Amino acid sequence: MSDIEIKNVIKLFTVLLLSEKEQHGYELMKKMEERTGKKISPGQIYPFLKQLKEHKYVDTEGREERDKLVYYLTPEGKRFVVRLSEKFGDLFEIAIKPKLTECAHCKCEIYKGGYKKKIGGRYLDFCCRNCANSYGKGNRH
Ligand SMILES: [Zn+2]
Repeated sequence: MSDIEIKNVIKLFTVLLLSEKEQHGYELMKKMEERTGKKISPGQIYPFLKQLKEHKYVDTEGREERDKLVYYLTPEGKRFVVRLSEKFGDLFEIAIKPKLTECAHCKCEIYKGGYKKKIGGRYLDFCCRNCANSYGKGNRH
């Protein structure tokens, strides 16, 4: 059987998100919306999940109603993800990485807001003013 072609970001994301953990189609949609900032419709997700299942890259658990099913990658599906990562390289890394910045001082993840401070000629991201002020002084909060 020939490999599934990944021709758009939604498909790439579907596979990537499943490689992170098993989940409902609904969860996949929500996460994709968060990461792409676009509205995702069930029609963009479920036919592809079905195709993945037919290829035995994905299997499901739970009741046979599509909203109740949990999708997960089979060992063959995991090998498919490895092939994809070889094919897409850097793009794959960028796509899979959640849009998070880390605090230059305490290394915590900054979800929203944060605090920028110009240090040594460039702007660094911090989670809070405290961290910005403590940066480079060795004490972590
Ligand atoms: Zn911090």
